[in-house]
Amino acid sequence: MLGTMSRSIPVSTRSRSEFIDITATVDDVVKASKIKAGLCHIFVPHTTAAVMINENADPSVHSDILRWLDKHVPAGAGYAHSEGNADSHIKSALIGPEKTVPVENGELRLGSWQGIYFCEFDGPRPRKVIITVSER
Ligand code: ZN
Repeated sequence: MLGTMSRSIPVSTRSRSEFIDITATVDDVVKASKIKAGLCHIFVPHTTAAVMINENADPSVHSDILRWLDKHVPAGAGYAHSEGNADSHIKSALIGPEKTVPVENGELRLGSWQGIYFCEFDGPRPRKVIITVSER
């Protein structure tokens, strides 16, 4: 029988836009699942946030990505959306609400320089991320 485990994890954001490293949290769920080989799915159930896999060593990569997004998707640029956070929705759509990482030998099979990041684009606010580990 193939196993699966799902957890909803709270994430507290502190700025309007920021990336929060959730790699250790995702890894904890993989370890708790006791699944040795399969897939780990990371899903963000929000329309103004996202999940990204990228550089875990040089923090300037994150500031470069945030600056690029702000330059190309500026706030208040005459959007139709009346809530005033259209840029947040567009950034969320660009990065996307989900990622999948292979699980091998009971661990996330990330590259050496990869981390998993919760992307906040309309904070600060309480958020969550849903992590599902499935056996194969
Ligand atoms: Zn909105």
